[in-house]
Amino acid sequence: MATTTSTNIPPTPQHILIIGAGEFGLATTLSLLSNPTYSNTRISIVDSSPQLPNPSGSSVDANRIVRADYASTPYSKLALEVQELWRDTTPDGWGGEGRYHEPGFVLTADQGHGAYVQKSLDNVRAFAAADVSGGGDLTKIRELHGHVEIQAATGYEGVSGDHGYVNGNSGWADAEACVAFALRRVERERGDRVAIYSGAKVDRLLFSDDHGVTGVELQDGRQMHADLTVLTAGAWSPSLIDLQGRCLATGQAVAFIDITEDEQEAMAHRPVVMNWSQGMFIIPPRDRKLKIARHGYGYRNLVKIPRKKLQPDAGNAGDDEDDSIIEVSVPEVAVPIPLEAEDAIREAMGVLVPHMKDRPFTRTRICWYCDTPSGDFLMTYHPHHKNLFIATGGSGHGFKFFPVIGDKIVDALQGKLDPELAELWRWRTPEDLKRDMDGETFLGCDDGSRAGRKGMILAEEAKRTRT
Ligand SMILES: Cc1cc2nc3c(=O)[nH]c(=O)nc-3n(C[C@H](O)[C@H](O)[C@H](O)COP(=O)(O)OP(=O)(O)OC[C@H]3O[C@@H](n4cnc5c(N)ncnc54)[C@H](O)[C@@H]3O)c2cc1C
Repeated sequence: MATTTSTNIPPTPQHILIIGAGEFGLATTLSLLSNPTYSNTRISIVDSSPQLPNPSGSSVDANRIVRADYASTPYSKLALEVQELWRDTTPDGWGGEGRYHEPGFVLTADQGHGAYVQKSLDNVRAFAAADVSGGGDLTKIRELHGHVEIQAATGYEGVSGDHGYVNGNSGWADAEACVAFALRRVERERGDRVAIYSGAKVDRLLFSDDHGVTGVELQDGRQMHADLTVLTAGAWSPSLIDLQGRCLATGQAVAFIDITEDEQEAMAHRPVVMNWSQGMFIIPPRDRKLKIARHGYGYRNLVKIPRKKLQPDAGNAGDDEDDSIIEVSVPEVAVPIPLEAEDAIREAMGVLVPHMKDRPFTRTRICWYCDTPSGDFLMTYHPHHKNLFIATGGSGHGFKFFPVIGDKIVDALQGKLDPELAELWRWRTPEDLKRDMDGETFLGCDDGSRAGRKGMILAEEAKRTRT
C-alpha cells in the first residue's frame, strides 16, 4: 500500500485538479498561482454548482464571524495573523469594499458552562498584552459580570448568558463577497494556467492499480486526469472518499428576517453576540436582513454509498463483487429548517430582540459544516492513496482563515507546514479518533464550542409537526 509522508513529498505536479471552488479550493488556487514552484503547473477547478460563488456552499452566506477568541492557543494565534489581513481595507485588501467590519464580539456563557469562554479570554488578553502582531488593543477586551454589564456591551434589549467578555478587536466578514473577491482574483491572475469548470459534479475519484488517485469521473461520464488531486469539497468531502470517521457533514440551522431601516440603523454597529452555552448567535444586519443562527452539534443526513466507490482498497482490492455499503452524512441543501430549530431560534430572538420574535422568517437554510471530532482541520496527503491531498474539515470555524489558508495548504503540500499546525491538521490514527470522540460513533464535533442536542437525524427532525 502506497503511503505519502511529509518526508516523501511527490515531485511538483504538472497538472493539479482541485475539487470544490469554496474557500479552501479558491484559497489554494490563489496560493499556487503566486508560488514560483508551480509556475509551470496547470490547475483545473471543478465545482458541481452551475453558479459560482455556489449559493449552497458553506463559504457563501451573508456573514461569518472573524475572531481570535479561541480556547485553543494555536488557532487564536493564527487568527490574529489573519486579522491583520482582514484589516486591510484598500479595494484589493481582504477587508476592502465592505468585506470586513470590526464592531467587536461579545461571548457569553450560562452559569457552569464558562470553561471555553475563560480560556478564550485568557488567550486574547495574553496576546494583546504581549503586543503580538494583530493582537489588538488590550483596553478593548473587558470581562462582563452579570446582566447589566452584558446588556450595556451588546446594546440588545435582552441578555443571553450571565457572564462573559467583550473583545472590541473582533468582527465579521461578508462571506459571499469574500468568495466573489477570491474568484475575481483567480480570474484576474490565472492567465491560461487555470481552468474553472462550474456545473461539473465529481461522481467518483479514479484510482490506479496501486490505489493512487489519477483524477476524477464527472457525473456526465467525462474523466479528468491529473498528477495531483486536491479534495476541497467541504462537507461533501466524506462522500467522495471514505474518511473513516475523520469528517462528518453536520447541518446547522440559519434563519433570516427582514428588519426596518430604523432597526438596521440601530443594530448595524452592535457587536456580534454569541451565547456559547446555547450556540445561538446574531451578527449585525446588512441591507435590512438579520441573520440568527445556531452553532451546535447539528443534524446528520445519512445516505448509503457503495463501499467500492469510496474505498477501493477495502479489504477486497479491485473486487467488483464487493457490494457492501458505507453510511455517510451528505449535505441536503433544499429543505427548510426543522421545527426544533425554528423554536430554538425564536427562543433566542425572544431574549435578544423580543419585539421581532414573531416576525416571519424570509428565508431559512441548513448550512453544512464539515466537522472533525476535535474541530481541527484535516489538511494532509491521504496516507493510503498517493496523489490525493485533502484540505477540509472547516468544522464551523474555518472561514476567518480565508486570507491565509491557501498558503497553509500549499505549505502542507510541500511538507513545509509549521509543525504545530501540521500536528493539529494531520491524518488522525484510529486511537486519536477514539480519544477525540465522545463514544464509538462520530455524532458531532467535541471541540468544547458546541451546544444543544447531539446525534439529531435530519429526516427524523423534519418529520416532526406541531401537535
Ligand atoms: C452556517 C455556518 C456558519 C459558519 N460560521 C462561521 C463563522 O462565523 N466563522 C468562521 O470562521 N467560519 C464559519 N463557518 C465555517 C466556514 O464557513 C467553513 O469552514 C468554510 O466556508 C468551508 O469552506 P470549504 O471550501 O471547505 O467548503 P465549501 O465552501 O462548501 O466549498 C466546497 C465546494 O465543493 C463543491 N463540491 C462538493 N462536492 C462536489 C463534487 N462532488 N464535485 C464537484 N464539486 C463539489 C461544492 O459545490 C462547494 O462549492 C460557518 C459555516 C457554516 C455552514
